[in-house]
Amino acid sequence: MNEILGIHHVTAITGSAQDNLDFYTHVLGLRLVKKSVNQDSPDTYHLFFADANGTPGTDLTFFPWADSPRVRNGVGLAVEVSLAIPHGSASYWRRRLTELGATITGEEIRRSEFAIMLHDPFGQPLALVEAADTRDFAPWTRSAVPVEHQIRGLHSVRLWERDLALTEDFLVHVLGFNSMGEDSGWHRYGVDSGGSGKHIDIREIPSAERGRWGVGGIHHVAWRVTDDDAQLAVRERIQDAHRRPTEVIDRFWFRSVYFLEPGGVLFELATDGPGFAIDESADTLGEHLVLPPWLESQRAEIEAALPMLTISSSQTANPANV
Ligand code: ZN
Repeated sequence: MNEILGIHHVTAITGSAQDNLDFYTHVLGLRLVKKSVNQDSPDTYHLFFADANGTPGTDLTFFPWADSPRVRNGVGLAVEVSLAIPHGSASYWRRRLTELGATITGEEIRRSEFAIMLHDPFGQPLALVEAADTRDFAPWTRSAVPVEHQIRGLHSVRLWERDLALTEDFLVHVLGFNSMGEDSGWHRYGVDSGGSGKHIDIREIPSAERGRWGVGGIHHVAWRVTDDDAQLAVRERIQDAHRRPTEVIDRFWFRSVYFLEPGGVLFELATDGPGFAIDESADTLGEHLVLPPWLESQRAEIEAALPMLTISSSQTANPANV
């Protein structure tokens, strides 16, 4: 029961698409690897930020829903996503974030790893965590951040839950996680032996009210599975546990199954393949609006309804494409 390899991507809700793009590409130095629309609501963008190739486990994606209310943090929500930075890079990042006016909210040691906590422009809690683990990572040579300090991928996610035992039982006995103990009130669960990109931390808050999705909050956490067989095997166990998984949905760059864990956090199983280069050149990933085939016939109307986005010309293969 070890089909799940780690975090595949995390999706959050944000405000203005341009401000979101500027922060994650310019300030954090990630690459916009896919510019698409929400497949269930094609009048809004879906933006994907990752390493140069969109390696599974490096991808942070956003729904810019500027008209939504702000997130109400509470139980049943993922409340922070952390990103791995190389060991020794914290001083570089502290200086960069300060110079660029980012909102640093604190620093702390988390199980011997140094973390800088910050908020993105819409209040999304983030942490940059120095991680010594080797990660699958493709450097982004046109990034504003030098390769030696670039974000290596998603490190972890923090969840608040009303009843830890319910979620723990599901993580361990259905999804195949291992309990890795508690530290400072955070209970850790990891796949394999845990490590960067392979664990989540949960705080039990029995008295807190239920959280509610909104701007500045995480929408769902996706877990990596190698292929369709692994995805179906886990899906069957989720179904047997009466968690009502969706059918497999083709997202083109991966295939997805969605379900709520017992505490109410929306999880997804996402396949590693086929990857972001399936429908555009690896060199120009993210530079053009990519639509699912059933929306191609409406491209003109969809493009007209979406706000214009400007990608810094230093980050594009051909400045004429911006
Ligand atoms: Zn997703």
